[in-house]
Amino acid sequence: MTDHIVIIGGGPGGYEAAHVAAQLGAQVTVVDTDGVGGSAVLTDCVPSKTLIATAELMTDMSTAQELGVNFHDHQGDAATTISVDLARVNARVKQLAADQSTDIAARLDRDGVRVVTGRGRLGPDLTVVATTADGEETLQADAVIVATGAAPRTLPSAQPDGERILTWEQVYDLTEVPEKLVVVGSGVTGAEFASAYLALGIDVTLVSSRDRVLPGEDADASAVLEDVATRRGMKVLSRSRMQSVTREGDEVTVTLTDGRTVTGSHCILALGSVPNTADLGLEEAGVAVDDAGFITVDRVSRTSARGIYAAGDCTGVLMLASVAAMQGRIAMWHFLGDAVAPLDLKKVSSNVFTSPEIATVGWSQQAVDAGEIEAEVVTLPLAGNARAKMQGVRDGFVKLFCRPGTGIVVGGVVVGPRASELIHPVSVAVAESLTADQLAHAFTVYPSMSGSVAEAARRLHHV
Ligand SMILES: Cc1cc2nc3c(=O)[nH]c(=O)nc-3n(C[C@H](O)[C@H](O)[C@H](O)COP(=O)(O)OP(=O)(O)OC[C@H]3O[C@@H](n4cnc5c(N)ncnc54)[C@H](O)[C@@H]3O)c2cc1C
Repeated sequence: MTDHIVIIGGGPGGYEAAHVAAQLGAQVTVVDTDGVGGSAVLTDCVPSKTLIATAELMTDMSTAQELGVNFHDHQGDAATTISVDLARVNARVKQLAADQSTDIAARLDRDGVRVVTGRGRLGPDLTVVATTADGEETLQADAVIVATGAAPRTLPSAQPDGERILTWEQVYDLTEVPEKLVVVGSGVTGAEFASAYLALGIDVTLVSSRDRVLPGEDADASAVLEDVATRRGMKVLSRSRMQSVTREGDEVTVTLTDGRTVTGSHCILALGSVPNTADLGLEEAGVAVDDAGFITVDRVSRTSARGIYAAGDCTGVLMLASVAAMQGRIAMWHFLGDAVAPLDLKKVSSNVFTSPEIATVGWSQQAVDAGEIEAEVVTLPLAGNARAKMQGVRDGFVKLFCRPGTGIVVGGVVVGPRASELIHPVSVAVAESLTADQLAHAFTVYPSMSGSVAEAARRLHHV
């Protein structure tokens, strides 16, 4: 008999699970409110990286003169400034996100997956009740996946108005370049937006409650980022906790807990996320959540209720699209009896899309310093790399961690342009337990930034 899988939420956690389930012969229904692709495609990951593509181009252009390129205006006079048309940038962002959602919907359709537009909640005995424009539909399931994602956290004292006080979902409605932007929150999202808007030529102040930006990342990496950002003109207020954000006319005021104030024309709130787990009928269905409302899951995405799995941001495991997708796939491989390996967070590679980018995989410097794992560390600045010199790149490094006895690579950090691409060989080494020697022995192109990955590995050679 064919299993019926019902998935609540059409983001990467949901739609990737749907593909696997369909591939394994199940009948699949996805219930989604906002359009498949989820926040990842419509408001978060895809839009922000599309905006950042423009920011990267602006950063490259700023080094043009050093590489011997001049710009002229239409009268032939030297042009010293370039500017961005934010209305066009944002129109492109929204179109690209919508097209991506359409592509995903078409792929689901090709796989025979039914998509119901509406709000889903768990009913009794493995049912999902979908509330649609036409009324309610009860879907009987053999297994359910909850993949409802998360939403931007706001505070009663810092309420977005969609015009000048903005969540990250609202920035794409801007049609004019903000004169002075204050970004509150120096985690990944805050750092990415601050870095992107700085590159677009905007006056940016980053308000950070911690000692340094990106407190969760490698400390050497965040030091490079903070150094580059401040050199390019960003104001970083460390140890500055936001108390409230208010607006009067065209001015936004961020008041800090110590009484200081920061004013700007616009403010982006990057205060973290809250899971979309209210009103889902979780408690009645016996699905346990933690104090913050995240659904508790094991490493094969099972919740505490039989037949109910959960994937992605609503579990709070590691809030990445790639992890959401893997949790969704694992759930289906597990339920439908395919070969499955439990989720291993030590193999996840991730990237902060700032300028420079910060990519990491495996064990971290913090874990090594805390004695959680014994590892040798080598750090190689990119400034010595021939390709970097040619491209005018001075900031960044490659850092590798390997086990002292065996030389097995257990982690790495790359800081530099396109670090998200450069981390891949390290990621392969970590996933496949390759030794530093094995990583070093593979050919790299000369000249190339990846030559620094191999060089760092060579320096970990044991005699
Ligand atoms: C600004 C920003 C940038 C990011 N950039 C990256 C990046 O570059 N790389 C990366 O890997 N990750 C990135 N992330 C994280 C990534 O977006 C999330 O991890 C990912 O979206 C999680 O996928 P998901 O399937 O769990 O949920 P979502 O993508 O949030 O999808 C959940 C879907 O479920 C729907 N839904 C909610 N409740 C219901 C309901 N009751 N019934 C039906 N449907 C419902 C929602 O409307 C939504 O469409 C970024 C996050 C942010 C905020």
